[in-house]
Amino acid sequence: MSSFETRLFINNEFADAKSGEYLTVYNPTDGSLVSDKIHSANEQDVDAAVQAAQRAFKGTWGKTDPTARARAMLKFADLVREHAGEIARLETLAMGSAIATQTMGYTTLADLFVYYAGLADKIHGETAYPTSAGKYKITQREPIGVCAGIGAWNVSAILFGWKAAPALAAGNTVVFKPSEKAPLGTLALGPLIQQCFPPGSINIVNGGGKTGQLLASHMEIHQIAFTGSTATGRKIQEYAARSNLKRVSLELGGKSPSVIFEDADIELAAAKSMEGAIANSGQICAMASRIFVQESIADKFIQVLKGSFEQVSKSGIIGDPSDKNTQVGPLADKAQFKRVMEYLDIGKKEGELVTGGVQWGAKDGLYVQPTIFKNLGKDSRIVREEVFGPVVTVQTFTSEEDAIKLANDSIFGLSACVYTRSISRALRVTREIEAGTIAVNDWYFPSPDTPFGGVKQSGYGREGGLEGLNDYLQTKTIQINMNAP
Ligand code: NAD
Repeated sequence: MSSFETRLFINNEFADAKSGEYLTVYNPTDGSLVSDKIHSANEQDVDAAVQAAQRAFKGTWGKTDPTARARAMLKFADLVREHAGEIARLETLAMGSAIATQTMGYTTLADLFVYYAGLADKIHGETAYPTSAGKYKITQREPIGVCAGIGAWNVSAILFGWKAAPALAAGNTVVFKPSEKAPLGTLALGPLIQQCFPPGSINIVNGGGKTGQLLASHMEIHQIAFTGSTATGRKIQEYAARSNLKRVSLELGGKSPSVIFEDADIELAAAKSMEGAIANSGQICAMASRIFVQESIADKFIQVLKGSFEQVSKSGIIGDPSDKNTQVGPLADKAQFKRVMEYLDIGKKEGELVTGGVQWGAKDGLYVQPTIFKNLGKDSRIVREEVFGPVVTVQTFTSEEDAIKLANDSIFGLSACVYTRSISRALRVTREIEAGTIAVNDWYFPSPDTPFGGVKQSGYGREGGLEGLNDYLQTKTIQINMNAP
């Protein structure tokens, strides 16, 4: 894909932004300009997208038979799967993530549309509460109307699919804003959308925080699903409260713990911890960045983990993200790189560097060597705050109780990992850990058929699985007087 679309996608057509404002994106592999002409939506543009979505909700998509909705979604899924590799290149170009990772993102988007297409004709209410004589009661589950989605930049395809697929299956229409750091892949879906959905069903508006604020504050949008940082999530909730009290679901940041007990398979725990830490160069919200290992096996575990982290730099899987064998690309942009380097400085000052801790490769490439720190205090910022890079901290614990306490000592609660050979311990500990998702003897990565989301300041609402549909439906109760003539 040598050229790419940079305009807004409204009512099934690409259109210039009325704002006359543009976003700029650089390639983080070498700092070269990707585009300084990515159209950025202002109030008029957002209104146009919302009106198109409103017309589709009232007139076409909202009135489409559920099985026809399912067929359109399945057609879209096939087209996305067919073009996954070429669209993924645009993500790689803009934010440096490995082509294999982003291709998986687009095939997962296709899977999400298949999953929710299957639910489109299975949405129903309940009947006949027998409690009050003479009154027949039914409930029906209805779509909400125009739903907005705002995404982060790390896996744009999945973030789009988590929101658009259940929204459309339920009969809603969508206005989606991809991140200003990686809008090109989402825009490349425009021609595929044109082939499957009536105009206005899915609209894409590019822009930064200002455009996001317009969506979250819009009076004709009745639901907003947000993925991004906790700080921005807080603002989204405020905008919703100040405007029309639209429904909000928030998928926010994390600082996920990984708890490794002395009966665990050390090699497995180290290999999975490494895989999770380097996937998407550590830019995954669910990444287990706080590792807690039982004291009795700590030295052995750290030694094995160090070996597997160092193997990444030696084995050739870090490098050019457009190469299909690469697993670790650069960080997304200069701001993200600077942020991670600042945390590395904190780690070096406050703890002990085990490995990594520096830039990898040439100066213009925004790569960071996979990094491990140990011996940090529990209040060090690198232990408390989300780094969003290939960086882990290792701390020790003595007992199960101690491990649970340490794991839960965070404002976040998105995900967690537990490594043990004991099923009863796994069941006890997973019950106690405060997180929306937990992996046992594995690192966690979401799948279309199960709900994903956080507790505490990692947000609320669930995306994926049957529960992912709930945010896009509202229940109406109808009461019929059976004694009426
Ligand atoms: P961010 O909060 O800076 O931006 C996310 C989105 O919000 C972008 O589209 C941005 O343009 C928009 N935005 C920024 N300011 C806004 C405002 N005032 N009003 C409305 N919209 C606004 O986050 P980011 O740097 O793009 O993404 C990284 C964060 O996302 C990390 O914290 C990561 O953990 C989180 N994340 C969470 C999940 C999840 O499922 N829980 C998934 C991916 C990423």
